Amino acid sequence: MIRFNKALRDIKIYEAGKPIELVVREFGIAAEDVVKLASNENPLGTSPVVQQAIIDNANKAHLYPDDSMFELKTVLAKKYQVHEENIIIGAGSDQVLEFISRAVLDESASVLMSAVTFAMYEIYAKQMGAKVLRTMSYEHKYDEFIEAYEMRKPKIVYLCTPNNPTGDATSKEEVLKIIREIKEETLVVVDGAYMEYAAAKDRAYAVTPGDLIGFGNVIYLGTFSKAYGMGGMRVGYGIGQKNLIGELYKMRPPFNISTLSLAAAIAACEDKTFIDTTIAVHSEQIKRYEDFAKARGLEYIESYTNFITYVLPQHIDATMVSDRLLQKGVIIRNLTSYGMNAIRITIGTQEQNDRFFQHFLEVLS
Ligand SMILES: *Cc1c(COP(=O)(O)O)cnc(C)c1O
Repeated sequence: MIRFNKALRDIKIYEAGKPIELVVREFGIAAEDVVKLASNENPLGTSPVVQQAIIDNANKAHLYPDDSMFELKTVLAKKYQVHEENIIIGAGSDQVLEFISRAVLDESASVLMSAVTFAMYEIYAKQMGAKVLRTMSYEHKYDEFIEAYEMRKPKIVYLCTPNNPTGDATSKEEVLKIIREIKEETLVVVDGAYMEYAAAKDRAYAVTPGDLIGFGNVIYLGTFSKAYGMGGMRVGYGIGQKNLIGELYKMRPPFNISTLSLAAAIAACEDKTFIDTTIAVHSEQIKRYEDFAKARGLEYIESYTNFITYVLPQHIDATMVSDRLLQKGVIIRNLTSYGMNAIRITIGTQEQNDRFFQHFLEVLS
């Protein structure tokens, strides 16, 4: 019998959104009739500009990518008004989270996060044997964070804004207020996976790397997986002061994103039209979800992301709703495992959303 690292005993495997293939297999629904609104992917698909960059680089798949990733760092540095040495690239911002965890944590450490937030923070912390502390609320409340921070002195504080899976955001003012209370020995991670959506909705909720670069113990995380529509390419980044980034580099395997991913990300940065269209479609469509909820007295959390969370009344079970929708070929996220009787729906295209509303109404009646 192999004796696995004892830290593993306490880890629950990350539950990813169900793939379209599973619904085809289990319920015999044709792939084109399945609507996947479960993983916060961009419903417009991959930008044609990015697709072209992938095609143009297909003949370089035998070459390792430029391991310095200089060109991508240069465009990101320009975009965010920082220097190349402030940036580390990961296979998704998930990989940067892993670098952070391994660089900072050990068995004597603890990490602090909100009551309901991105599941990977806990998993990476537990891999290192660290203890996971949570505040009472899913919102990032100053008082709750500072009280827990002062009592427990965690080595990492996670601020996920906008927050996944709830969709709410913390204002820039509040984020900075929390950061200013936290001493240099604690790393603050500001996870901005949905920041493009927050910025489009309300500037007061948009935190930029530039707002944070003055703090030596803060790292900002961004990703190409959400607004940029590149979840399948696996590219994300961390931005912080040079010393911090230098330490994270010690955890990075060489060539950690592919030649095609690198080319795709560089092209994506230049492709503002796609982001503008993404935001325009999203703003129009999310309104339909808000109106739908208001018209039926359903509770929802005001969203700063590309998804919306409906909090269901007690007599409507979120697991039942999710299972019935799945049988009809609509994949959404059941938040029961987060301790909420709620469902999270990624905002889709007009047609996808039509299908969701149609089937959701059938399930409700
Ligand atoms: C999607 C997501 C990420 C990371 O996604 P990657 O595809 O690994 O870049 C990080 N944080 C949050 C909150 C997310 O929702």
